[in-house]
Amino acid sequence: MNFEEIYDATPDGTWEAPGRVNLIGEHTDYNEGFVMPLALPHTCRVEAARREDGVLRLHSADIGKGVVQLRLDALAPGSPEAGNWAAYPAGVAWALREAGLGVGGADLHFTSTVPVGAGLSSSAALEVSTALALNDLYGLALRPEQLARISQRAENAFVGVPSGIMDQMASACCTAGHALHLDTRDLTQRQVPFDLAAQGLRLLVVDTRVSHALGDGEYAARRAGCEEGARALGVQALRDVSFEGLDAALERLDDPVVRGYVRHVVTEDRRVERAIGLLDAGETRAVGPVLTEGHVSLRDDFQVSSPELDLAVDTANGAGALGARMTGGGFGGSAIVLLEESETDKIGEAVNSAFAAAGYLAPHLFEAVPSAGARPL
Ligand code: ADP
Ligand code: MG
Repeated sequence: MNFEEIYDATPDGTWEAPGRVNLIGEHTDYNEGFVMPLALPHTCRVEAARREDGVLRLHSADIGKGVVQLRLDALAPGSPEAGNWAAYPAGVAWALREAGLGVGGADLHFTSTVPVGAGLSSSAALEVSTALALNDLYGLALRPEQLARISQRAENAFVGVPSGIMDQMASACCTAGHALHLDTRDLTQRQVPFDLAAQGLRLLVVDTRVSHALGDGEYAARRAGCEEGARALGVQALRDVSFEGLDAALERLDDPVVRGYVRHVVTEDRRVERAIGLLDAGETRAVGPVLTEGHVSLRDDFQVSSPELDLAVDTANGAGALGARMTGGGFGGSAIVLLEESETDKIGEAVNSAFAAAGYLAPHLFEAVPSAGARPL
């Protein structure tokens, strides 16, 4: 069904916002550290029309449910709609109004090509596309980073997922042909040229199509562990522990689990720095081993990998990839593989065969082409 069939009206406009992969800098955003995501060509598209009666109507082509109808002035965290998919766009409308912005009703219809629950940020794409549509329908003139903050507020306070700012910033601020180097403490950003094709390289996404249910609780546990580490070390956030001071800091921590978390975050911030240095120097191939080091750190120190992710990474590397790692929060989801373009088929086949031999679901493989952030169509 299209917008006209659902709402018996024509949309005022169409907007879209992409999913993302994170090149490097994982579980660093809620530690006020550094990340480097790039936007995917996969987007959440929203057609939208303004309404003057304070009613929000939501429909997703990707969910087998009908239209969700809500009154804006009745929206609050914990209200019934906070339990399902509609909480994401409703939360954005709520967060805009909470920020004192003059947002009224709207009819919204979503269609998304971002795989859902694959660690590729379908949720941020849904939020940011909503924020941009409402921004334009109501002439709010918010900047992309403001749209990202509103979207994060929706996810944290309305949906109830304690995510960092990376996903929404990636969806709102990335540009085609670039990775986004972001300081999550103050949102300082730099667009880093990331034109792999020109160098005969590719970035492959391996969506394992597995998302382990324990992910949510484990994510919260990692956050709590990082906060505990920061408290024990007397810093505002783990970002403030220097790489040079890491060994001394680790000696001051009693809990081996927290020690592992701290070591991951501090070395991961360092890996972002190293990757940036290599990209700036035109040594893109040398980023591969940095990715693999990041994976080992996420697997062993931070303990957020999964057997499927480890198999994808180990198989790709064993078949000649330049480097690979899990991307996103972990416990399933997707891995990325940096490889020579000429090796794409060979490495893809190796991953497919390894998954078949292990009795896993067949993974989805596709190329991550660095694409544009949220935009009107
Ligand atoms: P990820 O962001 O990694 O894809 P999340 O668990 O953060 O995974 O977000 C997935 C949730 O976002 C879905 O369960 C659903 O509630 C919502 N969602 C994402 N895309 C859509 C869509 N196109 N239509 C409806 N809901 C969606
Ligand atoms: Mg998400």
